[in-house]
Amino acid sequence: MKQLSNKRRDFMKTISLSLGALALAPDAFSSLSSQTQVWSPGGRQSASGGKKLGIALVGLGTYSRDQLGPSLLQTEHCYLAGIVTGTPEKAEVWSEKYGIPQKNIYNYHNFDEIAGNPDIDIVYVVLPVFMHKEFTIRAAKAGKHVICEKPMAMNSAECVEMIDACRNANRLLSIGYRLHFEPYNIEMMRLGQKKIMGNLTSVEAENGFKLLDPNVWRLKKNLAGGGALMDAGVYAIQGARYTTGMEPIAVTAKEEKTRPDIFSEVDETIRFKLEFPGGLIADCRTSFNMDLNKLRATAAGGWFEIAPAYSYSGQKGKTSGGPMNFKQVKQQALQMDDFARCVLTNEKSRVPGEEGLRDMRVIDAIYRSVKTGRRELVGK
Ligand code: NAD
Repeated sequence: MKQLSNKRRDFMKTISLSLGALALAPDAFSSLSSQTQVWSPGGRQSASGGKKLGIALVGLGTYSRDQLGPSLLQTEHCYLAGIVTGTPEKAEVWSEKYGIPQKNIYNYHNFDEIAGNPDIDIVYVVLPVFMHKEFTIRAAKAGKHVICEKPMAMNSAECVEMIDACRNANRLLSIGYRLHFEPYNIEMMRLGQKKIMGNLTSVEAENGFKLLDPNVWRLKKNLAGGGALMDAGVYAIQGARYTTGMEPIAVTAKEEKTRPDIFSEVDETIRFKLEFPGGLIADCRTSFNMDLNKLRATAAGGWFEIAPAYSYSGQKGKTSGGPMNFKQVKQQALQMDDFARCVLTNEKSRVPGEEGLRDMRVIDAIYRSVKTGRRELVGK
């Protein structure tokens, strides 16, 4: 095995002490119940005295404001170093709250100047979907590693461009799939992929919420790419894929619309079946007009489910053998710390761009099936 550099060895030692076994395990399944989390306050140095990587958030909307910003006060290996916003008033508030210097504040026009800023190692794209491709590619060209929010892009062709751009710039790309760092979801992966209760016989995955404000970008096709499927359904696709550990080969889908006044441009509710190699079916549903939040699998020797499955916290789970009992974690802090670790050790993320691309190929096939009314193969 290739010798680890001193820097990398020290870093691995530090992070394994601070994050526990979860983030470092060769697979994500190990030592959940013994997982410990040690938070350090926000700042530029890790608890061990090492340099934290600087993250710049692009887009200071709800998710950045309520989840990512606060999580970056709890991360051990990265911190909020910069912001990119089109709203000067937000820049002022964030600058004060997080101690961000003027030189680390950009807007969408001068963003490319970030190339010359050594404080910023990672750019995190938290914008409406139609801007994901542009800012991921601009960030990579500026020499920054990139995390891009879900859904990765407007379609799978854009995902390929983003992956290529990061590869050509020799930068790492990750998608904001926080649930790969959440113990109940990791347990679903373990039980399903390792066939702990035998071969899977069925999977159910559904995610949705009520979105009734007609003015949001999520309801505009040219800004969001699609509706419930793109925004919430991607979690159900993820859940089915990581519980089975397989890639769907075909889909059938049907759209239901009860409020065409609000959902005139994008999908309101879609029921879809994912067909996996060997014939296993995942029954899925997503909606902008219903609260749905479940992931369940049945196997030859039992069943297991989590509900709520996809929330920021409060996951609960049970199996035919009894309840699941795991610690609650700050998903986004673990997710960003893991990416910082990947950058520092030059290791591919557990949730790389390719993971976003796989979901987007499924989404593309679902939209095709909605249109044709037929079974559609998932593109390769
Ligand atoms: P939001 O509407 O709250 O914020 C969007 C931000 O983009 C705002 O700051 C807005 O000013 C800015 N923006 C720039 N140009 C815009 C334009 N032309 N139209 C509209 N807004 C524009 O959205 P959000 O909920 O923060 O979502 C942002 C991204 O984060 C999306 O990709 C979303 O899917 C993702 N997200 C992920 C999670 C998760 O759990 N991983 C949760 C919520 C959102």
